[in-house]
Amino acid sequence: MGSIQATRGTRDILPNEIRYWQQVEAVARDIFGKAAYQEIRTPIFEQTSLFERGIGEATDVVGKEMYTFRDRGDRSITLRPEGTAGVVRSYIEHGLGTQGGVQRLWYCGPMFRYERPQAGRQRQFHQIGVEVLGSLSPRADAEAIAIATDILKTLGLKNLELNLNSIGDPSDRARFREALVAYLTPYKNELDEDSQDRLTRNPLRILDSKDAQTQKILANAPSILDYLSPDSKTRFDQVQNLLTALGIAYTINARLVRGLDYYTHTVFEIQSADLGAQATVCAGGRYDGLVAELGGTDTPAVGWAIGMERLIILLQQLQNLSGETIDFYLISRGEQAEAQALVLAQTLRHHHFSVELDLSGSAFGKQFKRADRSGAAACLILGDAEAENQTVQLKWLATGTQQALSQAELLATMDKLHQQIQTARGNH
Ligand code: ATP
Ligand code: MG
Repeated sequence: MGSIQATRGTRDILPNEIRYWQQVEAVARDIFGKAAYQEIRTPIFEQTSLFERGIGEATDVVGKEMYTFRDRGDRSITLRPEGTAGVVRSYIEHGLGTQGGVQRLWYCGPMFRYERPQAGRQRQFHQIGVEVLGSLSPRADAEAIAIATDILKTLGLKNLELNLNSIGDPSDRARFREALVAYLTPYKNELDEDSQDRLTRNPLRILDSKDAQTQKILANAPSILDYLSPDSKTRFDQVQNLLTALGIAYTINARLVRGLDYYTHTVFEIQSADLGAQATVCAGGRYDGLVAELGGTDTPAVGWAIGMERLIILLQQLQNLSGETIDFYLISRGEQAEAQALVLAQTLRHHHFSVELDLSGSAFGKQFKRADRSGAAACLILGDAEAENQTVQLKWLATGTQQALSQAELLATMDKLHQQIQTARGNH
């Protein structure tokens, strides 16, 4: 029988890669904690209508990319393609906003989109994201952006560019949309097929088109920045001034848009020159209309999501994280020795050492080879003689120094051993 492979567009994250994921999660968790962002975990699947309303039927995500199916109770269910809709549903459902004040939430987990898999683009991928609910202040936008850049910088990433834009409020955008459609309509037949379709359904998204001919036509298109009301313009200036005060560099990109009405004011993307075609690591913005759209009371909000796979591609270019290191590799041979070794391993673990127990029962030579490859600081050896005398051989793998000591002595010198292991690690 043939073996079964992972589904197209999904990937296993194997132990040799996991350190990168753990590093990203640890850095993000630390930075979120310091800024009083709290973690929220929402279900992986939701009712399809949540995403239809929360993302919009005119978007690629809802129109073409969702994993939607009927469950056995004939409900239409969708695997979440992004995190915001679920978080906002939860915020409304549990009245998280009823005490007033600002809710700063973060999440991390798998998302699902039926896309053409390529480097940095999968069907199951992961995002870390934040949603700040309940503040209209431009400081909320700037703080959220600062946290995203902090995470990326702390991880050591360079060559990042923050693209920033404002899409104003819904009435600014309605006027801009009209102007854009008026400008593009005479060129309709020269636009790429998707853009022709979007001209009536979601014209702002045409600005996103990757098609060269469409881009050429767009070169002289009206700019959203000329359609901002004085209020919207002031808000945008404030966000920029705050970013400058934070020492965060940005580039204004008037082409950066979100097509839907509940998106307002700030939009941003962080791109990396080291990623090739899938260059956007982080994308976000303000969505003052979404909570009301999903049935909650009018609540301003801002958020972003980082694509973990793309971030990890960048991290792997930067550094080489090896697997987890262990303190002791424990080898034994003979029935009595093997039993004692198991007990000794547990005792050492209870004293906060990490111990890998060789279970093979093979010749000492083979076990020694595995000990060398294990990355352990030291090897503990138990044979018949050691078992008989309740002793153990301790061999430091970097230097090859070996000594015999009683098992009681080994356990009595725990503190010293901890120090010796630290030193041995330095020698590796
Ligand atoms: P793209 O233009 O690359 O398709 P998007 O606008 O669909 O991105 P968002 O919905 O804003 O992306 O999601 C935020 C981030 O999540 C993206 O910037 C990217 O880093 C990541 N992301 C989105 N879709 C995928 C995917 N299919 N595979 C891997 N990462 C993804
Ligand atoms: Mg996409």
